[in-house]
Amino acid sequence: MAKRIQFSQTGGPDVLEYSDVLPEEPKAGEVRVRNHAVGLNFIDIYFRTGLYPAPGLPSGLGTEGAGIVDAVGEGVTHLKEGDRVAYAQGPLGAYAELHVLPADKAVKLPDAIEFETAAACMLKGLTVQYLLRQTYRLQKGETILFHAAAGGVGSIACQWAKALGVKLIGTVSSPEKAELAMKNGAWATIDYTKENVVERVRELTKGDMVPVVYDSVGKDTWETSLDCLQKRGLMVSFGNASGPVENVNIGILNQKGALYVTRPSLNGYADTRKRLETMCGELFEMLESGKIKVDIAQRYPLEKAGEAQEALASRKTTGSTVLVPSM
Ligand code: NDP
Repeated sequence: MAKRIQFSQTGGPDVLEYSDVLPEEPKAGEVRVRNHAVGLNFIDIYFRTGLYPAPGLPSGLGTEGAGIVDAVGEGVTHLKEGDRVAYAQGPLGAYAELHVLPADKAVKLPDAIEFETAAACMLKGLTVQYLLRQTYRLQKGETILFHAAAGGVGSIACQWAKALGVKLIGTVSSPEKAELAMKNGAWATIDYTKENVVERVRELTKGDMVPVVYDSVGKDTWETSLDCLQKRGLMVSFGNASGPVENVNIGILNQKGALYVTRPSLNGYADTRKRLETMCGELFEMLESGKIKVDIAQRYPLEKAGEAQEALASRKTTGSTVLVPSM
């Protein structure tokens, strides 16, 4: 038997069960990974609460992890038993000792990158790759607004922006988070619990405002984010930490200056093996060169996944969190 976290109904962290299941055999084109570390992400909470529907219940949870291939399905040629791999896409079920996923979603891990580091940054780091390098191709010297700058995605974004010569203004909810974002390379921070975000962005940019806002908070920040944009600026709405943005009259984009809006996802960008490999290549290069250091600020045993999610949802975490299966 193998341990996994599953849920049979949507709801609070208490719906998560730590169960014994029969190890699943990989089918053609699949691999089974023995996880050494599992990544915790806000999207896991959306599935648990039902904001994003799981394909069926009971369901596993989680899409990010790193470990060793321990079984390979028919027809898989690029991976073999014993390979070190990481992944950030595929079916729900990464919160487990063993996880079966399509082989083309798993990538070989360079020796220099540890399992925990990979589990802490595959989903978050690939997200930052597409946000800063594809959704809007940032140029040196540009100034941007990035919400939740001390979080998992935000901590990587601060470092990547700095490496690109981009001035990142990060929003945070406390002085400690502000300090962390600055340490990671943010150019400035705004504590939205005390300061007016639009006014601070106006001051910091000397009235220019920003060409792009990266907003993963959703409902609470939608309108503020639009007000921070220059004319014809791009609103990148990529998450719902405060709830989804709903009932938008698109006329608002006209009223606020012919704005653009996009709602991207990792699966929308890493949708082919070639694109996934290119994006991983860039991420791994940033890690190996030391331009990005992944801050694993919280570690929990796998069975405490509910506690870990509770901490993430209540803004108590900084940087990345990993779940460690008992080995
Ligand atoms: P974080 O570590 O960034 O945690 C979320 C942070 O959001 C909190 O720490 C908090 O920071 C801020 N926040 C603001 N309002 C709220 C609220 N009402 N409730 C909870 N948190 C709030 O999480 P992740 O790094 O895992 O993910 C960041 C965001 O990116 C999520 O929204 C996630 O869904 C999104 N995402 C999107 C992807 C995509 O491809 N579209 C892929 C990966 C992540 P503070 O206290 O400073 O306000």
